[in-house]
Amino acid sequence: MAWSFESDPEFEKTLEWIDEFTREEIEPLDLVFRGPGDPWDPNSPAFKAMAPLKKIVKEKGLWACHLEHELGGQGYGQVNLGLMNEILGRSRFGPSVFGCQAPDSGNAEILAKFGTDDQKARFLQPLLDGEIASCYSMTEPQAGSDPGEFTCVAHRDGDEWVINGEKWFASHARFSEFLLVMVVTGPDKPIHEGASIILVEKDTPGMEILRNSAVGPYVEQGDGVHGYIRFTDCRVPIDNLLGDEGQGFVVAQTRLGGGRVHHAMRSVGKLKKAMDMMCERALSRTTKGELLSAKQFTQDKISDSYIMIQQYRLHVLYTAWLIDKHKEYNREVRKEIAAIKAATPKVLQEVVYRAMHLHGSWGVSDETPLMYMWADIPELGVVDGPTEVHKVTVARSVLRDYEPSPDLFPTYHTHTQREKAMAKYGHFLES
Ligand SMILES: Cc1cc2nc3c(=O)[nH]c(=O)nc-3n(C[C@H](O)[C@H](O)[C@H](O)COP(=O)(O)OP(=O)(O)OC[C@H]3O[C@@H](n4cnc5c(N)ncnc54)[C@H](O)[C@@H]3O)c2cc1C
Repeated sequence: MAWSFESDPEFEKTLEWIDEFTREEIEPLDLVFRGPGDPWDPNSPAFKAMAPLKKIVKEKGLWACHLEHELGGQGYGQVNLGLMNEILGRSRFGPSVFGCQAPDSGNAEILAKFGTDDQKARFLQPLLDGEIASCYSMTEPQAGSDPGEFTCVAHRDGDEWVINGEKWFASHARFSEFLLVMVVTGPDKPIHEGASIILVEKDTPGMEILRNSAVGPYVEQGDGVHGYIRFTDCRVPIDNLLGDEGQGFVVAQTRLGGGRVHHAMRSVGKLKKAMDMMCERALSRTTKGELLSAKQFTQDKISDSYIMIQQYRLHVLYTAWLIDKHKEYNREVRKEIAAIKAATPKVLQEVVYRAMHLHGSWGVSDETPLMYMWADIPELGVVDGPTEVHKVTVARSVLRDYEPSPDLFPTYHTHTQREKAMAKYGHFLES
C-alpha cells in the first residue's frame, strides 16, 4: 500500500478556500458572540449571523462532510475531514458553519443507523439541515467514567418506557429538540448488556432541567449549556428505543469513536493557532537589544512546540487513515483513538502555556485568544472519558501483542542470546 503525505491538488484548493473563509468570515464571529451556547443554540443571535455562511458552505458542497453520501455528506473520508477540521478548529464556530459540530454530528449518525422513518423525518432531517440542536445524555451526577455506577433506569409499561433518575452535564439540553439518553433497562445484567439508548423529545412531561452548568468561571452562574436533568416517571413511546434493548453501548460506539477523533482534529487547529501567535510575538518583541526569537530559551519553546504539534498531527491523521481503511472502529483503531484522546490535553497544555508565557502580560490578559484557549483545555481531559481511562485502553491494547517470558530469564537475556549469536557468527571471530 502506498504511503503519501499529500492531498490531491483539487482538494488542496478546497483547503485553501476553507482556510481563507475561516479566517475572514468565521473567526470574527468569535469576537462578537461570546455566549456559552452561541455556536449551537438555534435561538441565539449568532445563528442568524451564521445563516448566510452556512448557505455558502452548502453551495460549495462542503456541508456535513463527516457524513457519507447517503446522508447528504461528501463521503470525503476521515483523512480529508481531518485536514478540514484542523482549519475549522481555529474557531468555536467553524464546525457549526460547516455542519459537523458535536454532539449533533454523532447523534445524526445514531439516528441514521437506528431511527425509525418517522424519527428520521422529524429529527434527523432538520438536524442534518442545521436547523435544530440535539443532546447526548449519558453521564450521571454520581457516575461519569464508570457506567457500572449508572442508576437512571427505564422500565417498560405497555407501549411506553418510563424513565426515572438523573443525568449530568448533558450539553445543549436546554435548547435541544431531542435528547438521546442512556438508561439502565436491565438492572440485573452487567451494564454493557443492560443499558439502552432512548430518544426523549424536549418538553416531555417528567423531564426537568434542574440547572445549567458552565465550563469556566466567566459565565453567569446558571447560564451554562450543560444540563443537570431529573426524570420522574417520564413516559416515552416504546419506539423511542434506538437499537436493541440492552445494546446501548453498541449504539453509543457509533458516535463516541468518531467524536473523539473529531475533537483531536480540531485541537490540531487550536495548536497551530497558538503556534502562529507564538511565532509572530517572537519576531516582534525586542528585549535586551534583540528579538525574542534570537533567544535560545524562545527557540527551545518554538522547536519543542513544533515537534509536539507535528507528532500529534501525524498521529491524528494516521488514526483517520486507519478509520478510512477499516471502515469501522475495530480494536486497532480504538487503540489509536484512545492514544490521541489521552495526548490532546497534554499537548495543548504545553503549547498554549508556552504561547501565553511568551506573550507576558498580554498572554494572560483578555486581549488575545490565548486565555480563552487555556480555559478550554481541562475539559478535553474529561469530556468523552478522562485521560486515565483512555490510557488504560492504550496500555491493554499494547500489552495484548506481548507474551510473558517462557523462562526464568527474559527472552532478551543477553547471556542466553549471546550463546545463540556466537553459535551463528562466532566463527568469524576465530578467522
Ligand atoms: C465540557 C463538557 C461537556 C460534556 N458533555 C457531555 C454530554 O453532552 N453528555 C454526557 O453524557 N456527558 C458529558 N460530559 C461529561 C463527561 O463525559 C464526563 O465528565 C466524563 O465521562 C467523566 O466523568 P465525571 O465527570 O463523572 O468524572 P469522574 O468519573 O468522577 O472522574 C473524575 C476523575 O477521576 C479519575 N478517574 C476516573 N476513572 C478513573 C480510572 N478508571 N482510573 C483512574 N482514575 C480515574 C480521573 O482523574 C478523572 O478525571 C461533558 C463533560 C464536559 C467537561
